[in-house]
Amino acid sequence: MLPAVQVALDYVYGVLGAEPGARLLIEQRVQFPSAYAPDDVWGTLDIGIWSTDGKRLWVADYKHGAGIVVDIVENRQLIQYAASLVLGSYGSVLPEVITLVIVQPRAFGSDPIREWTIDLETLLDRAYRLEMEIKACLEPSPLLVPGEKQCRFCGARPGCPAIERKALAVAGEAFKGVKDLKTVALPAPSSFGPERIADILAVRDLAIDWFTAVSEYAAAQAKAGVVIPGWKLVAGNSRRRWDQAPEVTAGNIIALSDGALTEDDVRPRGLVGLGDAERLLKTAYAAKHPSLKAKEVAEKVTTDMAFLTVKEASSSVSLVPASDRRPEVRATVDAFKSVVAIPSEVKE
Ligand code: SF4
Repeated sequence: MLPAVQVALDYVYGVLGAEPGARLLIEQRVQFPSAYAPDDVWGTLDIGIWSTDGKRLWVADYKHGAGIVVDIVENRQLIQYAASLVLGSYGSVLPEVITLVIVQPRAFGSDPIREWTIDLETLLDRAYRLEMEIKACLEPSPLLVPGEKQCRFCGARPGCPAIERKALAVAGEAFKGVKDLKTVALPAPSSFGPERIADILAVRDLAIDWFTAVSEYAAAQAKAGVVIPGWKLVAGNSRRRWDQAPEVTAGNIIALSDGALTEDDVRPRGLVGLGDAERLLKTAYAAKHPSLKAKEVAEKVTTDMAFLTVKEASSSVSLVPASDRRPEVRATVDAFKSVVAIPSEVKE
């Protein structure tokens, strides 16, 4: 964890070094001055840095997770924190330039520090939009707008009718509710055109997440004594495991084999995976060269690992959203490359 946190510290020290005397806010509770929900819209910002003249503001959030790369552009959380600082009583001068920052050192395939710099007008515009969204949420029957981002951590997800409708709507007109899934056959994928397939793929993760949330909620309810019609709790499958420590067990197996087996047979050594090797090297380099910054250690490990590894071209392709950072493989064009490059003697 320390090398990851060091990336955030290096960023903060970098800004503070360039802005002597700047005011540093750490773990500051910030309240968004909403007229509609004055007490409910708040958060705890990880890092805020306000320049001495008050004209520049940095608002940064540290994300330790590796699985979901958090976008910085139009990041609602940081817009809310920055607007709370600017519109609250935290500074005496309105900043002209605001830099929102996500520090996410463990996110795979993404820059560990992502910045979005905006002017005051843009921030105030986004703050106004946020206020309008707060107002809309507080309507007696607020519009439910399912989406991967907003639903991912929503506690209402298991029972949300909007997700259920969205998940089922793309499957076909015949589905009005989950009960229909039992009686109406799901259409074959081959009956869909590209547009329909795109619609279905767009809600696939949302639907899978929703079914998972419903399953987890149902299990929790069942454990609390609620009867779920047609379902019951059972004991998990028991699995065998070694009774004693690995070295003791290995010795016992060798003894039982009357020496026919060796330590290498029963407890072979294995090479660590690439990710583990990188992690171990980072720790070792950092311990051996304490003066190196986390970024320098990471660069050295990347360089050294390049000497130890080769990249094998994958023969498989995956279908991913167009927003994915990897370059596109145009299957048809690539498959016919050899046909397009016809040797001149054949052409004649
Ligand atoms: S689960 Fe339902 S209530 Fe929660 S954010 Fe999604 S649409 Fe809104």
